[in-house]
Amino acid sequence: MSLAAVAVTAATRRPVPTHTLGFPRMGAQRALKFALESFWRGDSTEAELQSTAAQLRQLHWQAQADTGLGFVTVGDFALYDHVANHIQLLGCEPARFGFDGHTHELARYFAMARGVSAQAVAAHEGCSAGCTTPHHTTGQPALEMTKWFDTNYHYLVPEFSAHTQFHLASERLFAEVAEAQALGHRVKAVLLGPLSFLWLGKSKAAGFDRFSLLESLLPVYEAVLARLKAQGVEWVQIDEPILGLDLPDAWRHAFEPSYWQLARSAPKLLLATYFSPLAENLRLACQLPVAGLHVDAVRAPDELVGVADWLPSHKVLSVGIVDGRNIWRTDLDAALQKLRPVADKHQGELWLAPSCSLLHVPFSLEAETQLDAEVKSWLAFAVEKLDELRVLATALSQGEAAVDDELHAARTALAARRASPHVHRATVAARIAAAAPGADQRANAFPARQKAQRARLKLPLLPTTTIGSFPQTAEIRAARAAFKRGALDAAHYQQKMEAEIALAVRKQEALGLDVLVHGEAERNDMVEYFGEQLDGFAFTANGWVQSYGSRCVKPPIIYGDVARPTPMTVAWTQYAQSLTAKPMKGMLTGPLTILQWSFVRDDQPRATTADQIAWAIRDEVCDLEAAGIAIIQIDEPAIREGLPLRRAGWKSYLERATRAFRISASGVRNDTQIHTHMCYSEFNDILPAIASMDADVITIETSRSDMELLQGFGDFRYPNEIGPGVYDIHSPRVPGVQEMAALLEKAAEVVPVEHLWVNPDCGLKTRGWPETEAALRHMVQAAQEVRERL
Ligand code: GLN
Ligand code: ZN
Repeated sequence: MSLAAVAVTAATRRPVPTHTLGFPRMGAQRALKFALESFWRGDSTEAELQSTAAQLRQLHWQAQADTGLGFVTVGDFALYDHVANHIQLLGCEPARFGFDGHTHELARYFAMARGVSAQAVAAHEGCSAGCTTPHHTTGQPALEMTKWFDTNYHYLVPEFSAHTQFHLASERLFAEVAEAQALGHRVKAVLLGPLSFLWLGKSKAAGFDRFSLLESLLPVYEAVLARLKAQGVEWVQIDEPILGLDLPDAWRHAFEPSYWQLARSAPKLLLATYFSPLAENLRLACQLPVAGLHVDAVRAPDELVGVADWLPSHKVLSVGIVDGRNIWRTDLDAALQKLRPVADKHQGELWLAPSCSLLHVPFSLEAETQLDAEVKSWLAFAVEKLDELRVLATALSQGEAAVDDELHAARTALAARRASPHVHRATVAARIAAAAPGADQRANAFPARQKAQRARLKLPLLPTTTIGSFPQTAEIRAARAAFKRGALDAAHYQQKMEAEIALAVRKQEALGLDVLVHGEAERNDMVEYFGEQLDGFAFTANGWVQSYGSRCVKPPIIYGDVARPTPMTVAWTQYAQSLTAKPMKGMLTGPLTILQWSFVRDDQPRATTADQIAWAIRDEVCDLEAAGIAIIQIDEPAIREGLPLRRAGWKSYLERATRAFRISASGVRNDTQIHTHMCYSEFNDILPAIASMDADVITIETSRSDMELLQGFGDFRYPNEIGPGVYDIHSPRVPGVQEMAALLEKAAEVVPVEHLWVNPDCGLKTRGWPETEAALRHMVQAAQEVRERL
């Protein structure tokens, strides 16, 4: 044996510790959700809630210890949100809640998370009835919530102003560390790093730059780290995911001095990055004065070798090799192939981990007793992913023979997935390959279509419509649930749903709306209804992922080529149209939204899957047209959510996304009108892409921004028709006629009036009928008044 060979063997025979950046909090059966909701209803005590939480932490640490993880992770657990935990830890709860020194920590926590009712504020401040102090009549709204990077998890946004002060203000983290230590675990604590914490917050006062708070924040981090060190914590994982974003120079340059300052009092720091490539921050991340660096080798596989080159050999390199964002079993052979050169190159310690926290995947496959066995064998949820780490680490440190069975099982499952006729449907690929190059274009440009649609539809100026759903009453939900359980047969279910459709149509006719909808009574949500009818989708029984607080979502799994065996909405829509002479708008969810709210297959590019869904939706659009439906809406509320975290990726994403939308929409004649709907408040930076979708009509959320949002469309000279929402559907408040008329007139100053539609901001499924009817009555009247005034 040559010396070199000995060296390589020795290098790879080092122990390879494993760890996780975080673990799902809800519990295998969502115990945390139920405990929280019971506590909020007043059905259980704080002690009961805390005891459930402690039990869950104990179970989750045990699961980590059982798979041989080097440490258990402490500090990732939260009763509502980990960013909210940091707000309390760092003592920067917003003053607007009016907490005094006596309010209990947990009460303050849920007040920030869920808001405070007017009654509670007034009572707390000892105020008498009839008081008009603003926050005594309106309460205090919760902290804003926003998406955690590009995930579907929502965090509570810290609020910063020139008055913000920090101090170490919560014992929670240290208590949890002590709890884990008492259970005999070796602890790695986790913190959200100071720069990411500030970045993720929001400056509350105009012109205030939250960056200026860094100096006063760092000493509190020092104090936290010193406390952890005093507790005997050897490693602290400090998350700075913003290193994967396009950062202003000031923020980038602040990393080095900040971490020098923290290093003074800290235990060993493992700087954790995830979700996107480090790119220009790679060298910076490698050279910071910390003891280790974690990188996401799933999202940025090409950077791994560069990191191994740049990272000094005395530092730990933690490789995020198992996908923390998706549910597929890891290709262990491919992972080992990726890891071996890194293990050779990096002379320091090598650790293995999931790419990011496992918060974003369901708990365990064990609960999936109903799932198709074949599909199930291709999956790994959080618990299974921990085991994959064990196998990979063992293979690296002791050789593959030590985990021969596990590697073999993984190989077999992967081979079966690759060869499965349920995954690969030749007809789907063949159809896409054979599509004409112009398949994503309507036959004629918008002006010709507009003319044909006007001739066919004969709508008034400022046509009125709604976004699709009507109130989902308890009765509707009960009928759907009974049908799912098998307690209601198909014929009775159909009767019930048709009765709901008929009711919605009657009400819309009475209100005098111009374009009607069937109301979406048969839909639980926007994706499940379609996924259940499309080939290539699977549904889990218990694959819950936290969305925010106690709320969880159960995303479908797209495992195979997508096709539409039979029409999905035609019968309901046709029935609805048969009840009225007014145009009935067909209602579909678009390809990007279906993609964004599902677990997507990893064995082909996302764009390919998007195209497949687009073709399936196109089939539905064409069938609706053939059934005589003249207007079809394809909702894309999630198209923006798919934007890559770094700008460099935006252009190609938007090109593919808008193309997929156009594929779904372009199979129809000129005189069939395609609508789309989006509901978020940032459009201006992607307006060209939105225009390139070429929908005949787009409806958007604008009422909360007082039509300001529309200005961008006006300045851009948005070419097609547009329905800016004239009332906010998020609250039961019924706006007056004049209020909506004023908004419409404002809109007409920005957009040519012959291009304007009149509609609410979004669907009405969360509202009750009384306020819905009242608001729509006002809306129709507002449209009439503005028509007359023009
Ligand atoms: N058509 C859907 C509805 O009205 C749109 C929902 C959405 O935009 N999120 O409910
Ligand atoms: Zn919407």
